[in-house]
Amino acid sequence: MEYHLNKPGQTRSGRSPDRARCGSVGRPATAPQLIEKIHYGHIYLSPHLDDAVLSCGGRIWQQARAGEPVLVVTVFAGAPENGASLSAFARQLHARWETPSGAVERRREEDRAALAILGADGVYWDYPECIYRRGVDARFLYDSEDSLWGPVDPGEGDLANTLARQIERLPVGAGRALYGPLGVGGHVDHQIVRRALASARLSSGVVYYEDYPYAAQDEAVREAVGETLEDEPVRWRAERVALSEEAMRAKVAAIAQYRSQLSTFWTSETEMESAIRAFAVQAGGGRPAERYWRARVGPAGQPCGDRGDGRQAGSQDLRRALGTTGRGPGLRCRPAGLGRRRAGPDPHRDPHVSSQ
Ligand SMILES: [Zn+2]
Repeated sequence: MEYHLNKPGQTRSGRSPDRARCGSVGRPATAPQLIEKIHYGHIYLSPHLDDAVLSCGGRIWQQARAGEPVLVVTVFAGAPENGASLSAFARQLHARWETPSGAVERRREEDRAALAILGADGVYWDYPECIYRRGVDARFLYDSEDSLWGPVDPGEGDLANTLARQIERLPVGAGRALYGPLGVGGHVDHQIVRRALASARLSSGVVYYEDYPYAAQDEAVREAVGETLEDEPVRWRAERVALSEEAMRAKVAAIAQYRSQLSTFWTSETEMESAIRAFAVQAGGGRPAERYWRARVGPAGQPCGDRGDGRQAGSQDLRRALGTTGRGPGLRCRPAGLGRRRAGPDPHRDPHVSSQ
């Protein structure tokens, strides 16, 4: 695990005496115990080195700006073993990213730069992302574009449980919030983190974010929260967080740091900014915002929105938030074209708007 604190002056979040004592400010450090020392008000779980910023960058900036320390934990930030061979698919992705070697380290550097702009700290867990993982028979588990959006390989059944135990050790609880991906789009690594969150024994509920850019397709969001299960009772509550122009600018500037990843979704930074701004307006029903989801508490006192099987309970709230009626087709989202989708004010009602 690698731990990264932003330099004083870069970080907009409040600096506690603990922070000053860490002695590793501005440098990566392998010191997981430091997490325990710093009182983060907000911890974001990011499957990959960009997801939290792409999806929540505006809110992160606003929280840090308000003096509330923010930590982003990237789960699949591990490099393949030294000298390990890569699949043809992974090599193809590295070529697209223009990172023929040292791809993970380069992406961590991009992430550090992005988090510095937002004023958040970062932790990098050493689990390699799916394109690097092999099964017991040494075959690559995910070696094609299609495989990224299919089912999680049965051989990885324990991975979500392992992550759940690690998530349980994060310093969250009373007065602190844990944010995680809804799994919109169905990327296998996002699905695994979602499952881990669902099975983790946590003392407080998880705030789920809409994985961008996949969330630009409303049907993908509907699938992620299981809109097709209409006979289920209300389970989810949507929450919009309004973003200031300053927050939008910081979010765009932070996303621009992921230079290796931009070409997957956009042809230029200008196009990226247009897409980010259009989606924010879409998510906010006319004004820039990010949208989040909380599971309602069930009769037994347990969060009941997340069943941990990737097919979540539907809700009247969901239909209200998405402006939809009737039974959805249960579409499986693909990444093609995402980020270039038409966006504009949607007719969605306003479930809840806050400023952080
Ligand atoms: Zn991702």
